Amino acid sequence: GSAELSVTTKLPLSDGIGTGCGGGHFPLMLKTAGYDHVVITGASETPVYLCIENDTVRLRDAADLWGRDTVETVDILRQRHEPCSIIPIGPAGENRVKMSVTFIDKGGTVGFGGLPAVMGFKNLKAVVACQGRHPIRVADPRLLKKTVARMMERVMSYRLRPRLLRGGTFAMTSEWAAAMGIPISGWDDIHENCRQTLACPSCPMGDKEVNRLREGEFSPLTAYLTDFMLNGESSATTALDNHNRAVKRFDLLNRLGVCRLGFENVMELMLTLYRKGVITKSDTGGIEISRDFDTVLDLIRITARREGFGDILAEGPRGAALRIGPAAEKHAVHIKGCALFIDPRQDSMNTMAFAQMVHPGRANYACGGIGIYMLGRPVEQFMHHARRTGMAEEDLPRIFAPDAFNVPRLTKHAEDWYSLFNAFGQCHRLYIHRFHSMAYFLEFLKAVTGEELGPSELLRRGERIWNLYKLLNVRVGLTRRDDQAPAAWFEPKKIGDREFLLMDYYRSTHITREDTERMLTEYYEARGWDKNTGVPTPAKLKELALEDFDSR
Ligand code: SF4
Repeated sequence: GSAELSVTTKLPLSDGIGTGCGGGHFPLMLKTAGYDHVVITGASETPVYLCIENDTVRLRDAADLWGRDTVETVDILRQRHEPCSIIPIGPAGENRVKMSVTFIDKGGTVGFGGLPAVMGFKNLKAVVACQGRHPIRVADPRLLKKTVARMMERVMSYRLRPRLLRGGTFAMTSEWAAAMGIPISGWDDIHENCRQTLACPSCPMGDKEVNRLREGEFSPLTAYLTDFMLNGESSATTALDNHNRAVKRFDLLNRLGVCRLGFENVMELMLTLYRKGVITKSDTGGIEISRDFDTVLDLIRITARREGFGDILAEGPRGAALRIGPAAEKHAVHIKGCALFIDPRQDSMNTMAFAQMVHPGRANYACGGIGIYMLGRPVEQFMHHARRTGMAEEDLPRIFAPDAFNVPRLTKHAEDWYSLFNAFGQCHRLYIHRFHSMAYFLEFLKAVTGEELGPSELLRRGERIWNLYKLLNVRVGLTRRDDQAPAAWFEPKKIGDREFLLMDYYRSTHITREDTERMLTEYYEARGWDKNTGVPTPAKLKELALEDFDSR
């Protein structure tokens, strides 16, 4: 994998403090420029971009960039500053769209929850890190080389790697999607013919892609995609057009900087409200809300510009429902205002679904585990992974039974483990995360810093980070009431002629609201947090040497 950048800010979508991570060349460039952290405060009166060039850190005029999309902005700034790495914002960020997102160097997603809107508020069009001349020193270069070489060997021999490199994330997720009832398009060949893998520096996996449409509708078009969505356009008459329309829609979202997940979620909400008559053409500015391809593109454009009805869509699922009124609120599917990546009715109430509920500042599934936690894996596989990730032998019986496991307690472990990825600045994406182990992190830490720790000490640091993250969010007012499962999870979900209910991991028991409440209590107990409020207790803070942190 590659080095990752973490950006922490108050997120417009959740009103919580969230950290977004992304790759690309940015972490490497920033380090060679001589910096580990950049803190941006205040706002400019006019559009600017921040340019970091060795010892010169300057705000430069961005009047000519304002209004440009993410791809154009990167192209222009590259011409000026190459070699460099760029975090731009698109029109959605400029217009403070809450469900905005952006891309490092066109490829690495960063800023779910509205980071671009925060940059837009500051009139900050982009951050540019230029390759510098500062040397990168580590404690033990030979050990580092050996450690990384061993990791590379493991990754390179992964049996599914050729498939990922050939077909991208699309090829890797088709079987899973079919099991979840998501319609599959049958575009594999078309997609493989026009895609090329993109990777962060030194990453042997490369789960991003550049897509070149050479024939059919919208050709020629070059689109940079972070993954590839599975759903196409039923209105298209050929598979090629169907594929190209999916690329076009994704490309438009990325160029304007509108979050795909958020937009799909709000779109679903509006379709429901329109069908039920909660909103009509008089609310939408005359637009008939439908999945018609051109209508969807128009809705994306007005969202990015906050134009007319787009001003409501730009608020994200919770904000849009609040603007429309109580009849809309009960249909909005969100946690802390954020759209959800995992609908556990289609999968199960696994640790990743539960992690979306209890994430301190937004709704993030990634901290709850990795791909091997997906449906139907045997308990032994979870135990094996728990051992690999530093769980002590004496803790295993509290989590694992012969045919079941405790989701809240395993989620706590997964979050502490995930914190280490962010602390190390290491990519935690699914396709690289799976190769990491506690032994690797300990050796890596020793090679880079010279510090020697044991597994429990390092895991405790992960726990400390997670508690600190929680305290920051307690400070902005988030408590147990913000960790609730959305009401929609307790209703059946219909996809085609199939109906999905919220079930436990092995899909043997129906999960109710009472069950999720019990799981929350169990999770807080495992964390040492107050079970009524979800706030870390004084005893826990003392144990983690965080008692001086003022969360008021
Ligand atoms: S897995 Fe993807 S995001 Fe992570 S380092 Fe590799 S290319 Fe970058």
